[in-house]
Amino acid sequence: MAKVYKFGGASVKDANGVRNLEKIVRQAGNDLMVVVSAMGKTTNALERVLEFLDAGKEEQALSQWVDIIDFHVAIMKQLGLQPGSDIRLQGEIPYDPKRSYDENYDQIVSLGEIMSTQIIAVYLLKQGLSVEWWNMPKLLRTDDTWREANVDNETSASVIRSGWDRPQRPNIVIAQGFIGGTADGRRTTLGREGSDYTAALLGNYLDAESVTIWKDVPGILNADPRIEPDTVLIPSLRYQDAVELSHSGAQIIHPKTIRPLENKHIPLLVKPFGNPNAEGSRIADDGVGPIGVPVYIWRKNQILITMRAKDFAFVLEESLSEIFDVIHRHRLKVSLIQSSAVTISVCVDNTRFVPEAIKELQAHFNVTYNENLSLLTIRGTTPEILERAKDGKTIMLSQTTRRTARLVVVENN
Ligand code: ASP
Ligand code: MG
Repeated sequence: MAKVYKFGGASVKDANGVRNLEKIVRQAGNDLMVVVSAMGKTTNALERVLEFLDAGKEEQALSQWVDIIDFHVAIMKQLGLQPGSDIRLQGEIPYDPKRSYDENYDQIVSLGEIMSTQIIAVYLLKQGLSVEWWNMPKLLRTDDTWREANVDNETSASVIRSGWDRPQRPNIVIAQGFIGGTADGRRTTLGREGSDYTAALLGNYLDAESVTIWKDVPGILNADPRIEPDTVLIPSLRYQDAVELSHSGAQIIHPKTIRPLENKHIPLLVKPFGNPNAEGSRIADDGVGPIGVPVYIWRKNQILITMRAKDFAFVLEESLSEIFDVIHRHRLKVSLIQSSAVTISVCVDNTRFVPEAIKELQAHFNVTYNENLSLLTIRGTTPEILERAKDGKTIMLSQTTRRTARLVVVENN
């Protein structure tokens, strides 16, 4: 039976990370699908290349591009690979001013995963492993919703299964997370941090026995260790818990990851790449959920938009449907809603789509908004825990039920 391993950017940020990946895949046995993200912060760096080009700053774009190439060349050399002969990296930036920003984005930003997987595949081959490199833009079929492409599961599953079931297939397949391609051969991306999602889709297509996400934390914790001093590992969760955690903003897994696994009852394991034999966390049908500990989840970069009726003929239901129409069309992600007699407030991720949406809302409502906010969700809270959490924070809005509290907090930086 197939197993799927996913390695994120932090786990392959340098040559040692790649060597560690080798150690982990050697222990895995046969029939291993390895999904890899771009190395380190490469995706952000590629985004900057496009931003410079788009702003007409060609020199800066080129110098950023050269930095990215140099970064990969340095890792190759440390791994004993010959740039130019073992691997030929993309020479020119695939930018075409006639294409839309978003289409260019996908052509450029997808290269991070192409480079990381090429390096890793060639390195593993040279270490004597039985390896095949897969080019996901040709295998994972999507539509052309640039930067958030929708996967055509039927086509992708059949292409990927037939590639996997070939009699002479090498033991290990190295595939890019996060990227796919259209029917006419253009690369697409699935949304930032989308590699987990790729791993889940592949697990689903291959009826894998498990999907493991290798991370730089011991597993799923009850809070971000960079924020809370005393974190504990949650060893076992149900799929539903994991969905809730990821939608509340837990960085641990991409929200779209759970569904493809739940559908086929495939367990998702989250393990520390620095300590491969540790138990980590297991998400499955028979999970038990976080027990006896509050779970703290921060969702950053929020904007709270408040709409007030322009006249007294305010009908909540009508206004809500108007507002949600705008929200949906502008692809905003709502994290919280609150209404009063004459206002409706929504907290959304502060993305580049927000300004246009606000403009549209202003046609119907008096709109005010606050930026630089975070949403803190505390699951399994008690009054004492809530009091402690509020301490020292400026709170714009709060919603509490018996077990869950949600606070919209002003970011202090
Ligand atoms: N490399 C992509 C990103 O940084 C995808 C991923 O890491 O999951 O967003
Ligand atoms: Mg990542």
